[in-house]
Amino acid sequence: MQAATRSRFAVATALHSLADRAVYPLVVGGGVALVVGSVAEGVSYWAVAPPVVLLCAAIVVVLERCRPYAAAWLEPHGDVAADRMHLTANLAVSQLAILTYGAALRARDSTMQVWPHEWPFPAQFLLGLGIIDLGLYWVHRLSHSVPWLWRLHAIHHGPRRVYWMNGQRRHVLHEAIEGAPGLVVLWLIGAPVDVVACGFATITIHLMLQHANIAYRAGILRRVFSVAELHRWHHQRLYADVQGNYGALLSVWDALFGTTLHKLGDAPPDVGMDDEPDLPLDWLGQHLWPFRRPAAREGDR
Ligand SMILES: [Zn+2]
Repeated sequence: MQAATRSRFAVATALHSLADRAVYPLVVGGGVALVVGSVAEGVSYWAVAPPVVLLCAAIVVVLERCRPYAAAWLEPHGDVAADRMHLTANLAVSQLAILTYGAALRARDSTMQVWPHEWPFPAQFLLGLGIIDLGLYWVHRLSHSVPWLWRLHAIHHGPRRVYWMNGQRRHVLHEAIEGAPGLVVLWLIGAPVDVVACGFATITIHLMLQHANIAYRAGILRRVFSVAELHRWHHQRLYADVQGNYGALLSVWDALFGTTLHKLGDAPPDVGMDDEPDLPLDWLGQHLWPFRRPAAREGDR
C-alpha cells in the first residue's frame, strides 16, 4: 500500500472511530440537555420532551441503517407490529404515570419536606434520576430470580435481534412494577413532578441507544452507563447467560452490587431466549403468556 493511501486510510479509520464514540454522548447527552435545560428555564415538559424524543428516535433509526452492529438485525423478524404496540403502550403508561405522580404530589401532606428544592434544577434532576434508576435496577435484577416477575419480563428477551424498539418491549404490568419503587420514594420525599418527567424522558432516550443496532462505542462511558455494548450480553440466548448487566441507565449499580457480566469483546449477534421457546410473536399473546404458562414449568427456576 502506498504511503499516501495508508495515511488516508488511517485518517478515515480515526474519523470513523471518533464518530462511533460521539453517537452516545451526542444523542443521549444532547437530548437530555435539551429537555432538562428547557424545563429548568420554565418551558413545559410537555412542549419540549415529545419533539426531542422523536428527534432522537429519528437519528437512531437513520444511524441503524448507516452503521449497523449486525446487518441481519435490520431485517424484520416478525416483531415489528408487536414492538410498535409495545412502544405506544409503554410510552402511554409512562406519561400517564407522570400525570398520576403530579396529582398524587398535590394531594400529599406538604409538611414533610425532605426534597432539596433549593438545589439548581439539574442537580435535583440527577438526584431523582439516580433514585428512579436504582429502582429499575433492583426490579430488573429480581425479575431474573423471582418466577412470576420473570414471566412478566421474559418477553423482553424474546426477540432474535436487538434494535431501537426493543427497549420498550415490555409487559405493561412489568413496566408499572419497574417504575413504582422509584416513584414511591420520590413521592415520599416530595420530589417535583418535573424531576420525575425529565427522569422518564432520559430513560426513554437512553433505552433507544441501549438497544440500538448501531456499532457505536461508548469507551470509558461504559463504566457509568449501561450502553449497548454491555446490554447485548444481557440478550444472549440462554437463560443462564443473561444473569447480569441489569442496569437500565447506569452500569455503576452492576459494579456496586456485583452483577457485571465480565465478557470480552463484542456480544454475538445470535440473541433471543432459547429457554422460553413458546413466547408468542403478537402483543396481546405476549401479555397473556405470563398467565398461561404451563404449571409444569414453575419449578424450572
Ligand atoms: Zn433482563
